[in-house]
Amino acid sequence: MARLTMAAACIALLITVGVAGIQSQRQPAGTAHTGNAFRFNKVADGVYHAIGTGTLTVVGNSSVIVNDDDVIVVDDHVSPAAAWVLINEIKSITNKPVRTVINTHFHYDHAHGNQIFDKDVSIIGHEFTREMLLGGKSLQMPLYKGYVTQLPGQIENLKQRIAMESDPSRKAMLQAQLQVAENNAASQAELKPTPPNVTLRTNMTLYRGDREIQLRFLGRAHTAGDVVVFLPKERIVITGDMLTSALSNMSDAFVNEWVTTLEELKKLDFATVLPGHGEAFTDRAKIDYFQAYLRDVWTEVSRLKQQGVSAEEAAKRADLTKHKEHFPTINSPGVPLIAVTRIYELLNSKR
Ligand SMILES: [Zn+2]
Repeated sequence: MARLTMAAACIALLITVGVAGIQSQRQPAGTAHTGNAFRFNKVADGVYHAIGTGTLTVVGNSSVIVNDDDVIVVDDHVSPAAAWVLINEIKSITNKPVRTVINTHFHYDHAHGNQIFDKDVSIIGHEFTREMLLGGKSLQMPLYKGYVTQLPGQIENLKQRIAMESDPSRKAMLQAQLQVAENNAASQAELKPTPPNVTLRTNMTLYRGDREIQLRFLGRAHTAGDVVVFLPKERIVITGDMLTSALSNMSDAFVNEWVTTLEELKKLDFATVLPGHGEAFTDRAKIDYFQAYLRDVWTEVSRLKQQGVSAEEAAKRADLTKHKEHFPTINSPGVPLIAVTRIYELLNSKR
């Protein structure tokens, strides 16, 4: 009987070890949170779009593909803590093990959870994604530096507001926000960028039972190594930040090539887009709206540069307000300086 119990315990242990693909890793700092950190929106049988609820800092979305025997996670958020909690909460939808992670691109809000996975988990990304995550290159990018340097100020600001707040319910809300920010800072302190251990240059297809999972590099866009994940049978495409409902940041984008890459995306037969930020959508016209914006921001900023206007001044003057209907965050002339700086850089390198 004792032996049987022991055997059952061993089996249970094996199952637990198999569940997540992270069991040999130490639990990262900053995972504490209240309630669920993710909503798993079911898009098709076994396909979920995971969106943060705000009780933990996760920043980007992930997608979860549950197959016959295993789970594939696309993108793993902003920190080891966020990825750890994602993997734990995936247990609420399946007890199958996460054996594969796909990075749509190297940016901090999509690939900084990579370090929590055991070595036998395949982390797949474009060759460029590997290059950027190797040797801490991604940490030198203005986008990440900007993000991480504002964290202490954000915490300080919340502390000051808590000290000044007299309304108990607002104070409690601010205290919850402070907890979320402090947990994120604690996890960022443990960050060790971890590159994909499997790379692709153009295409790769994974077969899981009767599910086909295509990884496609369609050209440079949001970064030099964006990969989309296309499920032809389910007619779903997971786009990272190459296509979202909003204006993706352009800090290291190929603004002038992005339109052509999106044209390649249009050739795929999909009905649903799972973007790296925001909710899933079905309106393919969003691709046209974004292409129109990209063409115009390139033309407008190029025109200002040709007139000898500084990047700072061009960031104030570039007028894209005619795109306000499809991108409501545009409410006056002006384009983020990080985008203008990047367009100037691209224009200079063309000479
Ligand atoms: Zn992102």
